[in-house]
Amino acid sequence: MFDYLIVGAGFAGSVLAERLAKVLGMNVLIVDKRPHIGGNAFDHYNDHGVLVHKYGPHIFHTNSKPVFEYLSQFTEWRSYEHRVRASVDGQLVPIPINLDTINKLYGLSLTSSQVEDFFQSVAEARNPVRTSEDVVVNRVGRELYEKFFRNYTRKQWDLDPSELDATVTSRVPVRTNRDDRYFSDTYQAMPLHGFTRMFENMLDHPNIKVMLNTDYRELEGMIPYREMIYTGPVDEFFNFEFGKLPYRSLQFKHETLDTPQLQPVAVINYPNEHLYTRVTEFKHLTGQQHHKTSIVYEFPRAEGDPYYPIPRPENSELYKKYKALADATQGVHFVGRLATYKYYNMDQVTAQALALFAKISGSKQVELTSRLGKIERRQKIS
Ligand code: FAD
Ligand code: UDP
Repeated sequence: MFDYLIVGAGFAGSVLAERLAKVLGMNVLIVDKRPHIGGNAFDHYNDHGVLVHKYGPHIFHTNSKPVFEYLSQFTEWRSYEHRVRASVDGQLVPIPINLDTINKLYGLSLTSSQVEDFFQSVAEARNPVRTSEDVVVNRVGRELYEKFFRNYTRKQWDLDPSELDATVTSRVPVRTNRDDRYFSDTYQAMPLHGFTRMFENMLDHPNIKVMLNTDYRELEGMIPYREMIYTGPVDEFFNFEFGKLPYRSLQFKHETLDTPQLQPVAVINYPNEHLYTRVTEFKHLTGQQHHKTSIVYEFPRAEGDPYYPIPRPENSELYKKYKALADATQGVHFVGRLATYKYYNMDQVTAQALALFAKISGSKQVELTSRLGKIERRQKIS
């Protein structure tokens, strides 16, 4: 009998497997329908020996010390600050938009305070800031919105930014200085030997059994367990009872080139050209030395593996119905990006999984204390 059946060996499932086994001594079976652990963060050496991310670029960044310290038990880190350029008006310019972006784009030599004045002169005040269009237009005006955000967003989501929650484009800041890092978090690093090695270390415990190439539904009635942790799509768990919850998919086109380096930075975004959104060159992320280089193109798709929840009001309403079902389902915990329909980064999923573990271990503690209490009382009576 397993204490826990964990569905999905990505961040959510692996963090819980590790904590339940190591801290509470639980017996855990973790299953994934894919042929590998790591979920969407899975990386591997391709046929040319270059370390690549199968499901697109994954860069670790967080402001959470507890999350960083927790993961540091399973990996050493390589310091890495992510930089992205956008191909706009025939030039490669920094994104997030910063002082250099504006100066390069318009052939100016503004200072930080002048660029702030410039933003204010072109911004169109939106009150309230409700959509992903509002966020950008309210800060940098319509022209920059159209150059950098409108078409990229339409390509990525097949929706106009005005149809998406403000949270989507709010992920990308606007700066008036020359900081061209994609993220501003305190901790920015890549696992020194890759994500998959980090997951292997997390799951390396005698109480954890890993079963790959297995949909948990194939095990129904065959393997007894006390509770389940589910990290797959929440609508699928309930057989789409309220209809399909929309997730956005991607098709990845991987290529290896006979040259040591292709791009000046890891990622180039193409808001206005091509059917793909961005091209990633992995060696920038991993620091690997190799005479060849591997890249990936991302083509957004409606159908395929679910990668992104789509943050917009009607989807939140539909998710609420599934959440109510999930909350009422005894013995199953829903956690992670797909199961809680949240556009979460890896660190946020890790934090969510650690919070669920704290809740589970708290209630196990209560159970244990009340069991001990009963035993004590019985002993006193006899
Ligand atoms: P997943 O990694 O999706 O794991 C869920 C697992 O459940 C999957 O492996 C799936 O096969 C399995 N599963 C589902 N259904 C079943 C079933 N029925 N039976 C068995 N197994 C099942 N985050 C960052 O922090 N930085 C980044 O740079 C970044 N870049 C990203 C780029 C892309 C293209 C994408 C798509 C995501 C990116 N993310 C990034 C987000 C990151 O991938 C997620 O936050 C994280 O991987 C989510 O972990 P998870 O465990 O919730 O889900
Ligand atoms: N975005 C954009 N242009 C860009 C970069 C981002 O319009 O050059 C928008 C787009 O809607 C995208 C969102 O901002 O989906 C979030 O960008 P991020 O890079 O965080 O996306 P992710 O890495 O999660 O795919």
